[in-house]
Amino acid sequence: MKLKALLLGAAIAAALAACSTTTSPTGRRQIVGVSEAQLALIGEQAFAQAKQQKAQSRDSHQTAYVGCVVNAIVRQLPADWRQLRWEYALFQDPEANAWALPGGKVGVYTGIFKVARNQDQLAGVIAHEIGHVVSHHHNERITRQQGASTGLQLLSAIVGSRYGEGVGNAVAQGGSIAAQAGFLLPNSRVQESEADVVGQQLMAKAGFDPRGAVTLWQNMAAAGGARPPEWLSTHPDPASRLRELDARADTLVPVMQAARRAGNTPRCQ
Ligand SMILES: [Zn+2]
Repeated sequence: MKLKALLLGAAIAAALAACSTTTSPTGRRQIVGVSEAQLALIGEQAFAQAKQQKAQSRDSHQTAYVGCVVNAIVRQLPADWRQLRWEYALFQDPEANAWALPGGKVGVYTGIFKVARNQDQLAGVIAHEIGHVVSHHHNERITRQQGASTGLQLLSAIVGSRYGEGVGNAVAQGGSIAAQAGFLLPNSRVQESEADVVGQQLMAKAGFDPRGAVTLWQNMAAAGGARPPEWLSTHPDPASRLRELDARADTLVPVMQAARRAGNTPRCQ
């Protein structure tokens, strides 16, 4: 017990010492404690686990539609993000939800089509989620909660794998750890706004109409009813979010037009 605690302490100290700073796509200084390679490992495990646990849609047409949007957005990422092995899955689930994980994994639930009614609105959700990934938000969340017990478990597993101990252990636990320890926790307001900015730029560069993001969130709000979707409840002021998306859409229309002139005219349906 004592030895275990000591080892865990050493592992945490090593992890904290490894904390470094990076810069988000919008120029925000960030403190991150986990390497991209380690994050990618956890993302891959979480994706594999999701595919084991959730039924995927058998509608090949709809699955291809999601893939068309994902691929169009991924093509606009900086080279080091684009080169990841991007994968996606369409899960059979009535919840209007989607997520993207480090390592380049995108999950979309069939319920999303209730609020994302055309390719531009679907691009609005998917680009927002990919915006969280390329802005290192998962890393920030994990790093911020190093004091929490789930954070400790995660770190001991990660640090263990870094030094060659318990690689199998870290891999075996990766999926559930990802679920418990930060990947699925709500984003901060700063992160949400940043994913909005990064995502809307990405969709316009891919040739999608950036105004689709506004309609998407309006549909989401309308569908919310008594229990607002997590996306809206994590944001303290949905009305101001919509105003910001709307104002930014106007400035991004020329970006979309330039993308289309250059041949990026997505026809996902
Ligand atoms: Zn978000």
